[in-house]
Amino acid sequence: MPADLAETLAAIAAEGLSATERGQVASYIPELAKVSPAHFGIAVITADGTEHVAGDADLPFSIQSVSKVFALVEALDSHGDAVWARVGREPSGSAFNSIVQLEAEGGRPRNPFINAGAIAVTDLIAAAHEDRAGSGAILRRVRALAGDDSINVDGAVAYSEAATGFRNAGLANFMKGFGVITGPVASTLDVYFHQCAIAMSCRQLARAGRFLAHAGRCPSSGKQIVSPERARRINALMLTCGHYDASGEFAFQVGLPAKSGVGGGILAVAPGKASIAVWSPGLSPQGNSLLGTRALEQLSRAMGWNVFQP
Ligand code: GLU
Repeated sequence: MPADLAETLAAIAAEGLSATERGQVASYIPELAKVSPAHFGIAVITADGTEHVAGDADLPFSIQSVSKVFALVEALDSHGDAVWARVGREPSGSAFNSIVQLEAEGGRPRNPFINAGAIAVTDLIAAAHEDRAGSGAILRRVRALAGDDSINVDGAVAYSEAATGFRNAGLANFMKGFGVITGPVASTLDVYFHQCAIAMSCRQLARAGRFLAHAGRCPSSGKQIVSPERARRINALMLTCGHYDASGEFAFQVGLPAKSGVGGGILAVAPGKASIAVWSPGLSPQGNSLLGTRALEQLSRAMGWNVFQP
């Protein structure tokens, strides 16, 4: 018998706010290092549209790699299956910013959710727009999905990452050498850094992810955002690739499609049941929110939400 959702969230948030072991806040992007590890927020929107929130659920944070889901939606919309000529659909088993597989595999990244793959996807979006307007397209997409025009890019985070993003520049230049990136590397990286710097609260993120929980249709606007098949496939990629080299462990423990970001956010999808966003800035060694992952384990177990169980 599933637990009461409101009670479960209150208990999870109480634990998330008071835990002493919180992981390490990302420090390789200096602006992210300023965020207090004490935060914890969670938002769950069930199929009937009820929003359940606890903790710091309305505080905006840097969504970082969660943006890769929205960029993929944007690129699939504008380029269709041509996206898959640039990027694969296999888990990498490597770190989020790893370059090792690229050389052996002709510069084609394993999947759209590691940094190399996301940069390749962003390059497609950048190419479809004048100058650096691709980041505006991704931001408009996120705003439309969340139904919230107040969502914005945190300019300080974008600048901070651009000033220190040497590894991402390395990946982009390497892919350019293989012809996988076609646009100017500087413009593609600029769009990528801006998409990663979008700031959203858990509530806004859970709203933006609802279409993935409901066969591609956003229940609040009634709009079919992507086809049911595309939604299913994006969910499959989130499940297999959404947590870098901890994706298998996340599937084992939580069993839900989800995408993490180094800002400490995770968007998770319980198909047919709920869209979930959780935020706690302290990360595991693989770069996934430590307490966010724990919270999703507790929530999925308590509610019986798991794609591997009826
Ligand atoms: N903007 C980050 C980077 O490219 C994203 C990584 C992440 O969130 O996992 O390093």
